[in-house]
Amino acid sequence: MNILIVFAHPEPRSLNGALRDVAVAQLEADGHAIQVSDLYAMNWKAEIDRADFPALGADARLRVALSSGEAYATGTLTDDVVAEQEKLRWADAVILQFPIWWFSMPAILKGWVERVYALGFAYGVGEHSDNRWGDRYGEGVLAGKRAMLIATAGGWPEHYGPRGINGPIDDLLFPINHGILFYPGADVLPPYVVYQADRTNEARFEKLAGEVRERMQTLFTIPPIPYRKQNYGDYQIPTMTLHDEHHTGMAGFAVHHTE
Ligand code: FAD
Repeated sequence: MNILIVFAHPEPRSLNGALRDVAVAQLEADGHAIQVSDLYAMNWKAEIDRADFPALGADARLRVALSSGEAYATGTLTDDVVAEQEKLRWADAVILQFPIWWFSMPAILKGWVERVYALGFAYGVGEHSDNRWGDRYGEGVLAGKRAMLIATAGGWPEHYGPRGINGPIDDLLFPINHGILFYPGADVLPPYVVYQADRTNEARFEKLAGEVRERMQTLFTIPPIPYRKQNYGDYQIPTMTLHDEHHTGMAGFAVHHTE
């Protein structure tokens, strides 16, 4: 199978770098083909701006989504963005790996998403009408592919537990798992999260490495998070609210899991 790892840490000798090397070695040993987009090493341009749309006239007003859609449709996106889109098409599984910084992904990785996920590629796909809000949440360019996060956090597991002060980890990662990976169609696997990452020594690293190897070996067998697909009757059109008979009386991110 083909695996893309999008890696966002500025230091190759970091814990993240070491765990990435473990993941790559295991995937290679199991016969997979791997590409790593090492964003800092690539000097990835994080911000989406006018330079992303070289065909846009000098006097034309930049409207990011519209310009993105036009550039995608006319093949005038920049080469770095096109290369990442091709890697996504090539991949059977996509892994985003990063340290949790300020409760989310590092800015360089968010910028990868903003630039690579062009209109027509990752959003604004499929029929948009009174009866349908496009191919998204379970359908789209990543449909049939698997995706997962490898993330490290300084906080304790309890800090990210159901009543922990940081908020539940599944809630914090929901915008990435549901909003960035499931939205364009991927089957999203439970994340692999290292807590108290800064407290890692040699002995602990061996344990973590074993867990990463195991997660790489189950990449194509572990059940995905059971998110509800948009276009299979669970949501009311056009409000896109969950029908009342599902998780009656509940609200919040968890209602978007099937019972
Ligand atoms: P490193 O600093 O590279 O390493 C961590 C430890 O692992 C070190 O002790 C190192 O010696 C050891 N180690 C590394 N490689 C090996 C190896 N091969 N073998 C054995 N030991 C090894 N945390 C939160 O929980 N929530 C937040 O919102 C948050 N925001 C942050 C924002 C910023 C800007 C920063 C800088 C940190 C933040 N943190 C937060 C903490 C952050 O998540 C952790 O510092 C990070 O996940 C650690 O990962 P790393 O790869 O950078 O570790």
